[in-house]
Amino acid sequence: MSADCVVVGASFAGLACATALARRGHAVVVLERKADPGDKLHTTGILVKDAVDQVPLLDAMPAALVRRVPGVRLYAPDLSHVDLAAPGYYFLATDTPALMRWLAAQATGAGARLHTGALFREASRTTHGFDVEGHGPCRYLVGADGPSSRVAKVLGLGQNRQFLFGIEHEYTGVDLAAPDHLHCFIDRRLAPGYIGWMVAGVGVAQVGLAGRLGAADAGGARRVRGALPPQAAMLAFLEKIAPVADFRSRTPHAVRAGQIPCGGVVRPVAAPRALLLGDAAGMVSPLTAGGIHTALRHGAAAGHAIGDFLSGRAEDPCRGFVASYPTFRGKRALRWVFDHFQADWAFNLLLGSRAMRSAASLVYFHRKGVFEPGRGGAD
Ligand SMILES: Cc1cc2nc3c(=O)[nH]c(=O)nc-3n(C[C@H](O)[C@H](O)[C@H](O)COP(=O)(O)OP(=O)(O)OC[C@H]3O[C@@H](n4cnc5c(N)ncnc54)[C@H](O)[C@@H]3O)c2cc1C
Repeated sequence: MSADCVVVGASFAGLACATALARRGHAVVVLERKADPGDKLHTTGILVKDAVDQVPLLDAMPAALVRRVPGVRLYAPDLSHVDLAAPGYYFLATDTPALMRWLAAQATGAGARLHTGALFREASRTTHGFDVEGHGPCRYLVGADGPSSRVAKVLGLGQNRQFLFGIEHEYTGVDLAAPDHLHCFIDRRLAPGYIGWMVAGVGVAQVGLAGRLGAADAGGARRVRGALPPQAAMLAFLEKIAPVADFRSRTPHAVRAGQIPCGGVVRPVAAPRALLLGDAAGMVSPLTAGGIHTALRHGAAAGHAIGDFLSGRAEDPCRGFVASYPTFRGKRALRWVFDHFQADWAFNLLLGSRAMRSAASLVYFHRKGVFEPGRGGAD
């Protein structure tokens, strides 16, 4: 077997890249270690409006796969809350397993060959590309294989060193109150450095949290003194939010969990005829921990840039193109501030203030939002 490009990882970044390349007529092979790309996902799967606006691949996304969530309800540690919204802005909760299978179908429909149950282990450099162990030669190699990228390791590229850890329960048969809000909970003990959340998804309620949680250290995460291990934090979180929504007597239908890179783009992120994308590249907002938008957007753009190179129309994207990757400079600075100065008392005191609500709207909507007039108590 030979390919123009081997893409490792059939998720947002890899499938966007493979689809773009295949649509341009290149021979693309996608290697995915799971038997089904929609299986065992480790993401809430929320799409921001910017992704819908900026990723043409999503134009054809079936409406049944998403649910529009226009507002955010932000809870202080004492469970008082404010409602935030911005005119025209929304999030999309997704049926993520079905979305992933749909993305895979876009890639294979365009002509990419998807090999499932195919673990990437090694690749060696050849004169015109790489020889991928068990899969043969290719002219270009893309690592879209997630936060602990094997491709990055094998090629000696940069690796993620800083992580948040996220864990989420999915419940069926639950009707959440205020389903048109993404519910976000601030609590330094349970979600240090990030938040807990609850959202009415597509046919499921999703409840989770992420932060600098104890067990995440295995992957080099910064340890927060006193942070609970993820499972214990999750149980304590369900206990805490019971006055808002009580899941304590329910058994989750599924659990999603995983590491979220939060240290910014790795260096080096590319080498001649090879580049990293998505979480493998550290392309996740260090502040919001959202990575799907960037994975899709830069994945598709990389597909075009690699296509131009393989057709002899442009230089190797390992040079100019990767300079377009996000730097997250401001967001990394804000992450540092949040890591060092997050204080529950301050959120309890200031959540209702105009300054705090403006700052929250900038984080969620990238601009000033509108607020409901009063400050709510716990429901
Ligand atoms: C709990 C949690 C909730 C999150 N919620 C959101 C959210 O709501 N919105 C958002 O924007 N972001 C969210 N994120 C972040 C987001 O999920 C990631 O940024 C996004 O999934 C990155 O996509 P990716 O394609 O780069 O990699 P991944 O989704 O990590 O996929 C990597 C793929 O590569 C495969 N793979 C790995 N190693 C190999 C190998 N050696 N050989 C073959 N295949 C391999 C994996 O099986 C996987 O399919 C969340 C993360 C977590 C952990």
